[in-house]
Amino acid sequence: APVRRPLMAGNWKMNLNHLEAIALVQKLAFSLNDQQLTDVEAVVLPPFTDLRSVQTLVDGEKLLIGYGAQNLSPYQSGAYTGEISGPMLAKLGCQYVVVGHSERRAYYYEDDALVNAKVAAALANDLSPILCVGEGLEVREQLGHVAHCCDQLDAALKGLTPEQVEKVVVAYEPVWAIGTGKTATPEDAQEVCGALRQRLVETYGQGTAERVRILYGGSVKAANIAGIMAKPDVDGALIGGASLDAEEFVQICRFPE
Ligand code: PEP
Repeated sequence: APVRRPLMAGNWKMNLNHLEAIALVQKLAFSLNDQQLTDVEAVVLPPFTDLRSVQTLVDGEKLLIGYGAQNLSPYQSGAYTGEISGPMLAKLGCQYVVVGHSERRAYYYEDDALVNAKVAAALANDLSPILCVGEGLEVREQLGHVAHCCDQLDAALKGLTPEQVEKVVVAYEPVWAIGTGKTATPEDAQEVCGALRQRLVETYGQGTAERVRILYGGSVKAANIAGIMAKPDVDGALIGGASLDAEEFVQICRFPE
């Protein structure tokens, strides 16, 4: 079986100022460092305004924690008031950037073409996009979830080489499970994550597909992570609410114990 290092990524959304960010990362990282938790990759995804503080802390203390942003511009620079570019994030030491989160698709009208451009912008700057796909409740009830997610995957990765696709992290996040307390069952998660990997096999080949990490996201917490991680095509989790609590997030990262 391919070795994919499990990834636990905490999406803070629009929470925590830079002082609160420092406090949380300190708590988190000291606890992770103490436990020599190197089998699992732990990453935080704070608001833009926190990133410089997080960088200083992580570098200064050599913390075993990665970080990234929640969004980026599809453009490299220029007259795009209010936007943040890939080069800016790379300069801050970000390794990851979330692209196509369902909240951005729904509230900021991000369509597949824009998501595709953002994935390309991330890769052009050596950032791994954490590409979110997922169906709403209506699509799930009509049993269109697998096709919907595979279509979103195809559209987001359009034009990429297999080498580029290997750097992408895919996150399956059923919209009906985000922030609702309704977790998908491990079987639901595996059904879609397995189908997404199969689609990667068909488009980019077995070798590439086996190296891409596919995460599940949607009301993940310490109490349900082990069952989800037991599934063969789930390589980690994207964690919203529970990532704001240091103890809960560390517990999630300790799922193998
Ligand atoms: C998310 O928004 O990526 C997410 C998974 O949120 P929550 O864990 O709060 O459902």
